[in-house]
Order: sequence, then structure tokens, then C-alpha cells
Amino acid sequence: MTPRTEADIPAAIAAMTLAEKIGQMVQADVSTASPDDVREYRLGSITDTVPKGDRTTTAAWRELYDGYQRAALQTRTGIPLVIGIDAVHGHAYFDGNSVILPHNIGLGATRNPQLARELARITARELSATGVRWTFSPTIAVARDIRWGRTYESFGEDVELQRMFASAFVDGYQGRDLRADDTVGATAKHFVADGATDGGVDRGAATISDAELRAMHLPGFVDAIDLGVVAVMASLSSVNGEKVHGSRRLLTDLLKGELGFDGVVVTDWEGVKRANLSYRQALDAGLDIFMLVQSWKESLAEMIRLVETGEVPMSRIDDSVARILRMKLRLGLFDQPFSSAACAETMGSREHRDLTRQAVRESLVLLRNEGGVLPLARDRKVIVVGSHADNIAYQCGGWTKKWQGAHADHYGHPARMVAGATSIIDGIRELIGDEHVIDAGVAGFSDAADTVIVVVGETPYAEKDGDRTAGDLVLGPEQRELIAKYHEAGKRVVTVLVSGRPLLVTEELARSAAFVAAWLPGSEGRGIAEVLFGDYGFKGKLGFSWPRTADQVPTNVGDPDYDPLFEYGFGLTY
Ligand code: BGC
Repeated sequence: MTPRTEADIPAAIAAMTLAEKIGQMVQADVSTASPDDVREYRLGSITDTVPKGDRTTTAAWRELYDGYQRAALQTRTGIPLVIGIDAVHGHAYFDGNSVILPHNIGLGATRNPQLARELARITARELSATGVRWTFSPTIAVARDIRWGRTYESFGEDVELQRMFASAFVDGYQGRDLRADDTVGATAKHFVADGATDGGVDRGAATISDAELRAMHLPGFVDAIDLGVVAVMASLSSVNGEKVHGSRRLLTDLLKGELGFDGVVVTDWEGVKRANLSYRQALDAGLDIFMLVQSWKESLAEMIRLVETGEVPMSRIDDSVARILRMKLRLGLFDQPFSSAACAETMGSREHRDLTRQAVRESLVLLRNEGGVLPLARDRKVIVVGSHADNIAYQCGGWTKKWQGAHADHYGHPARMVAGATSIIDGIRELIGDEHVIDAGVAGFSDAADTVIVVVGETPYAEKDGDRTAGDLVLGPEQRELIAKYHEAGKRVVTVLVSGRPLLVTEELARSAAFVAAWLPGSEGRGIAEVLFGDYGFKGKLGFSWPRTADQVPTNVGDPDYDPLFEYGFGLTY
């Protein structure tokens, strides 16, 4: 009954009961399902989207997941579980010393897919060290409107960058041998045109021609499928009035049919409910794994009912189960269901940090450098100030430790640790020596040097919580005043902007001698100092057009009357 090869799948399915089949299609969350639930309901996968408790060691994670796996293996079929997690910029939900990568917007600016492949490899190793074999990444959205709260999860506004990075990431995560200890299954998401919604509204409505959908949003998925990506996640948005989660045309005809995708199509988090669809519509559309947190029991019962009453044919269910078993075979889970300690030593290693720091350096985009103020001299004093100078949670952004980021007070929790990370000011201190750094805090004024590095930007957000109006795409009043204050005092202002997208900063640019877009660099803040002080040059190029005014949002390369403040591809060098 247990399949050894893909040829055994039909026989394995034939031997399964309906409840066992539907159980395979349900992905419950560690916060709402126990190992006993896995055994009783024959669940096929587990995710960990609402991290709970203290889980700061690889051993603790492995023990937790192995407990679930043991329960799965005790079921009649003995089909192993697959455990998946959102590792969208490194293993960022690990409450320990994992390496947090720059978010995709920064990686897009590097234009260095070879490096991105290495970074995905790092993440695969760190995930595998904690028993995770599947990541819900990469997001290969082409964000066409920077008002969208997920702009930073996108490599850039043009399909060129989607193509440059989708395959690099899938290749890096999945490697040459998905059964190996240091690889994980990838998920290309969100299918399709999630970045094309009107007004940049998260989970909104895309009004788009078929030609544009295919030219601008699809090619990265085609590349990922060519490389054997094990999963594709459906988008919660709609395309021309049709919810993707309920679209047979997009999920079955296009993705599984025309593109020949033979992996699993996974829903977004509670996707059916959140898209206001019925399970009948969702099953009919072609979804295979249902990511469920609160409603997994009812959803499971409802799917069983739909098949029992004949509203959904068994053939539809069998297609999903075949895909799920194929994925598990490809991941080698039938042979090695339990976690492996093989990668444990690599967690947060020097090698992982060095490569990530290289990515931070290469992601920085220099927008202005009046009179060659940069690079700064290492032997002169410099003032460092601003809300983002010494705030690791801010520099990591959303999807760090928790969904909305690691900053204080979210969900009433104190700020969560990002062990092993280096803040931007600490990176400067390490590089030029403590004696050269005057720390003026979040908004203080100091007259003790003639150059000031002002580090300001956005505070963390994820998804809808990050949606903004064009008028809101600005720095806060205190941050603007800070730049103005130092400028008026005659200081040479070097502004470092930490943000998930371009902001309207025309005035702040004029008040800064130098201006650097640092995106959301992650745990290796020292990379910024290494470029500001000239150990390395600037390489980054904008993956997003930088608007001049709110009226210009959205503006994308190739638009008629294209006239942004800085064009797609802009970036000064030295
Ligand atoms: C997001 C997905 C994510 C999922 C699981 C959803 O809200 O849209 O990108 O993978 O949650 O956390």
C-alpha cells in the first residue's frame, strides 16, 4: 500500500478510504491540531503559521515535528506528513540565531540570481535543521503598484526580475536532489497576477487582459514549473471578477493543463473561507492541499460530505491525492520521514551570515551622492541617528518571528529576539570603531561631528496591513524633521532609508547630501556600513520606478509618459 515509486501511486490510492484521502488534502496548523488529531483524522500535512511558545533550538523544533510525524506513521496507511512553513526571507520564524535575508525587493536590486540561489540554499539548510521540508516561498509576484502591502515580497515591477529570480530561488531551495538533507520543497506564489490588483489592494481584484497576464505575471511560474517546483500557492485575489481559489480555468485548465504542472496546488491560509467560496467550488477549481487553521475539522467533514453525496467526483479527489503522494515521494519522506540533524551546525553559521551580508551590500541603491560625500572616511567621527539605526525588528520587516514582524507589542507580545543579528549602528561601530560613532538615539541632536547618518523608514507590516494610499507613502513627521534639523545645522546628511518600497521623499532627498535605499536588509546590518565606508562599492539597481509625487503612483517602466524621479534600473556607483 505504501508507494515506493510514482508508478505505485494508483494502487496506493485505490487502497485508501475516502477519509484517508481527504485527510491528505488537509493541512492543519500546530496551533490548532495536535499529534493525536493527525492520528485520528489522518492529516496529510502540518504548518506552523502561528508560532507559539519558546522554540529557540533546532532540537526543540525537531522534537515537535517528529512528534507529529510519529503520529502520521501510526495511521493505517502510514503515509508520512509533510511540514511546511513561511520561510520567505530565511528561516525567519525560528526563535533563535537563523539568518534573516533581505526581503525580495532588496534581492531584486542586486540583479544577482547566482547569489539568490546561494541564499535559498542557506535557507534550505536552516529549515532542514529544524525538520521543515517545505517552504511557502518564493513569492514571485510582479508588484505593479507600490501601494500594495506586499511590494517588498516582490523582486521588482517587471517580469524581467520575476524571471531572473524565480528559477534561482526554486533551484536554490530544491537543489539537484530533493531527497537530500539540505534541500526543501519550494512554493511559487501566488498564482496568478497577485501583484496586478487595482489600486494595489491586497487580495483585491485584478483587471487585466489575458495577454498582459501571460506576458507580465506568468513567465516566472513557467520557469519554476520547468525546474520541478513541488507546489504552487493560489492567490487570494481575483482576475477579472473570478476568484483564483474558485477558478477552474486558471488552476486546472491553465496551471495543471496547459503548463503541465504536476505538483500540488495549495490554498492560501484559510483560503476558501477568506475568498468566500464553497468547498465545492474550491475542489472543482483544482485545489489540492487546503491550508487551514481554525476551520480544519469542519472543512475536512465538508469535503468528505461533498464526495459522499456525489457533488464532487472521486476522480477529482484522486488527482489531488496523487499529486500529494508524488510530492512526498519526491521529498523522500517515505524513506526518511523524520528530521535530520545533518544541517544543525549550519544554523546561523559564519558562512551563511557572510553570504547574506554580501546580499545586503549588493542590494543597496545609491540615489544621490552630492559632491562625493560617500564613501565616508573611517577615521573621522560620525553621528548616527534615527528610529531605524538600532532596531533589528525594523530592519527585518514583516514575516520575521511573526507574521507582522518582530517589533514590540504586536499581539501584546514583547519584541521577539533576533539572535545573532547586527543592527545598522552596530555594524558601523564594528567597522570604524566605537570611538568614531556618536549615537544620537532615535531623534537626538548632536553637534559633535560634521557628518550624520540618518537611518529612518517604515515600520514592519505584512499583507493587507501594509496597504497604503499614495499620500501615505511618506516618512513620518519626526523623521522628516530629523533630516531637516541636521540639514539646517549645516551637517552633511547621509540618509539611509529602510523601507519595503520607494517612498515619496523628494524633499528629504534635497536635504540629504547622500541618499541610500536599503530596503529591508534583514539580520546582517553590517553590510550597510561596509558600503557607506567604501570597503565595497554600490551595485544595486532599482527594481521599482521611484515616483516623484503621489499623483504618479503607480508608475512602471514602459508606461506611456514615463517620468519618475528615478527610473527602473537606476543606481549610482562608486
Ligand atoms: C499569505 C501567504 C502565506 C500564508 C501562510 C497568507 O496569508 O498570503 O503568502 O504563505 O498566509 O502563512
